[in-house]
Amino acid sequence: MEITRRDFIKRSVILSCLPIFSPITLHAKAKERGPWLPAYYRLEKEGKLDLKVEEAYAIFENCMLCPRQCGVNRLKGEKGFCRAPARPVIFSSHPHFGEEISLVGRNGSGTIFFSNCNLRCVFCQNWPISHKGKGKEVKDEDLANMMIRLQRIGCHNINVVTPTHVMPNILNAVRIALKKGLRVPLVYNTSGYERIEILKILDGIMDIYLPDMKYTDAGHAGKYSSGASDYPGVAKQAIMEMNRQVGEYTTDNRGIAIRGLMIRHLVMPNRVAGTEEFVRWVAESLSKSTYVNIMPQYRVEYMAFDYPEIARGITMQEFLEAMEWAKKYGLTNLDPHSVSVRNFYRQRL
Ligand code: SF4
Repeated sequence: MEITRRDFIKRSVILSCLPIFSPITLHAKAKERGPWLPAYYRLEKEGKLDLKVEEAYAIFENCMLCPRQCGVNRLKGEKGFCRAPARPVIFSSHPHFGEEISLVGRNGSGTIFFSNCNLRCVFCQNWPISHKGKGKEVKDEDLANMMIRLQRIGCHNINVVTPTHVMPNILNAVRIALKKGLRVPLVYNTSGYERIEILKILDGIMDIYLPDMKYTDAGHAGKYSSGASDYPGVAKQAIMEMNRQVGEYTTDNRGIAIRGLMIRHLVMPNRVAGTEEFVRWVAESLSKSTYVNIMPQYRVEYMAFDYPEIARGITMQEFLEAMEWAKKYGLTNLDPHSVSVRNFYRQRL
């Protein structure tokens, strides 16, 4: 069904007339959970979240949500490079125990996998979801209910995976869920292929940014990510903006992540990911104490079999080399799992 901007604004106005904060609930919840509150809660309290939702939704009329800048009217059913409609298509929502340990905690990270993708890498490990668009189209209200359900079963955060092309829906859903009691941190789990202008809309909404930094070489980015040869420069600028907004990674007294930047970098065979340049850039352009997860789990998936350079897993030596570069450039806040894998590989060699 086609959604007009007028319909959307009408819905927003109705929503904004409802009392988002019941003072009694607010105080009771604050007492229960202590002083920490998510960024989106504070923004709503300042009366600014509804304006952000409206600003984001307007972009659907001439979609410029990502660097592909297709200019299609998604509210009229037009589709751009990502092939996504104006409503979110969701593959799954569940507690995830395979994310970084401070996101997983005891009860899991409340992960919502969005179908379709604006980057579309040939080695994508979620290709049935990202490339083939498998999933179910839902309303923003349904998405909000998923968030509430994940919080209710104890997840420590809401982790939106591949969010770029559905960012307006996520913002609208967060506002609806906030009214229903959402209070856990929001994690923006992105490929890093983001426009700064769009990230600025998220300023004050996201608690944690979890971007990939996939390559530092334009040729590799173009070859393996559907022509996105601008990826290295775009992702670096985007990550710097994320860092400006949320700063360095912080946890609560249980070790659960509550705010900050966490960068992921997947080591690829034959130095395709440009790891040395990546860690050098982090040390020089961000901070040596930036949280960095250097990941060893590259596997040959989807169309990667057709590219000899990436048609194998990485060797132990390649992973150890990557971790040595991190040490050489002085990174001090490496993900504990990557450190354990490094220690294990060292023992085996
Ligand atoms: S989000 Fe999709 S339609 Fe919009 S600019 Fe990006 S690829 Fe194009």
